[in-house]
Amino acid sequence: MPRKRKLYKILTPEPRSRFVKVRCPSCQNEQIVFTHATYPASCLMCGTRLVEPTGGKAKILGEIVRFLD
Ligand SMILES: [Zn+2]
Repeated sequence: MPRKRKLYKILTPEPRSRFVKVRCPSCQNEQIVFTHATYPASCLMCGTRLVEPTGGKAKILGEIVRFLD
């Protein structure tokens, strides 16, 4: 190869599993959940389902407050 191109493989974070802080729609409790949870997660305060596993990316049922690094 005459010219070698740089690979920017580190710059873009992989859009894989992350932790997000979600707010419970029922009691406003904020809780950290996994975006690729393979098991359902419920609110620790009131038991409302916050994360529903779908096989791939989990479905977030609560309100996403922010993503965590
Ligand atoms: Zn709750």
